Amino acid sequence: MKAFISEIFKDCSALSSKGQVADYIPALKNSSIDNLGITIIDTSGEIISYGHHDKKFTIQSISKVVSLLLALEDNGTEKFFSRIGKEASGDPFNSIIKLETSTESKPLNPLINSGAITVTDMIHGNTVEEKFERLIEYFKLITGNEELKINEEVFLSEKETGNRNKAIAFFLKELGVIDSDPLKLLDIYFKQCSIEVTTKDLAKIALLLGNRGLDPISGKQIVNKKYCSICNAYMTICGMYDGSGEFAINIGIPGKSGVGGGILAPVPERYGIGVYGPSLNKKGNSIAGIKLLELLSEEFDFSMY
Ligand code: GLN
Repeated sequence: MKAFISEIFKDCSALSSKGQVADYIPALKNSSIDNLGITIIDTSGEIISYGHHDKKFTIQSISKVVSLLLALEDNGTEKFFSRIGKEASGDPFNSIIKLETSTESKPLNPLINSGAITVTDMIHGNTVEEKFERLIEYFKLITGNEELKINEEVFLSEKETGNRNKAIAFFLKELGVIDSDPLKLLDIYFKQCSIEVTTKDLAKIALLLGNRGLDPISGKQIVNKKYCSICNAYMTICGMYDGSGEFAINIGIPGKSGVGGGILAPVPERYGIGVYGPSLNKKGNSIAGIKLLELLSEEFDFSMY
């Protein structure tokens, strides 16, 4: 597999020039547009890494997968689905439109921003600090990485400029969907998006998700099996936002992207994959990362369909 990656890597990486790094969060402008890295872990624990695999980047929307799992653990499915829908939106990640036009006043799914902000509200804790503390501890548990911390510059940059997310949070409060103070809640949401990871951290999460919450290396059940299948289903229908259908057809596995350039992708019962490539397509997904996954899927028959 490594030989194949080295063969296709240069062509994938060249695609970066066709995209752009996210600049609506000013601190993300500093990312190097041509970076590309990948880590693949198989169920025996063997790791293949290539390119900028150990570069740290902010997890951004991929954090929604982790907060979703913790919110399910904290609330159970009945309560969770009373506040969050089960459908794709087909809109960009930060779209607000369906909140007003859908018949039910609740976010369509937990992976668009309105849903993710609601999910963060559902994490247990008496204060926002306590909620975030529990969330980052959960991140450490499922990545097995005790060193995880936030990138303060990216956090403050989004906190200062994230007006659209502020609009979404205030709208959710007005609809009675969230309980917390919107700005305090956004502090946790922006912090979770600013957690720094490498492709290996993403690959570890993907490996767990692809094995129904069981860490195949330690043999320990880390996450509830049912919550993992809910999470994989959500990733399939909306993990890549309005690029999810294309991802399902071309790559054929669940995936979750972030505007920091990361993609997390489980190949069920085979691999956990983490990719980093900060040059994004118009839908906010890593342009070179998607190509890399597409070629790997073709060659190694990843598709579940
Ligand atoms: N923090 C970003 C936001 O809420 C995450 C978006 C993303 O990665 N798609 O706008």
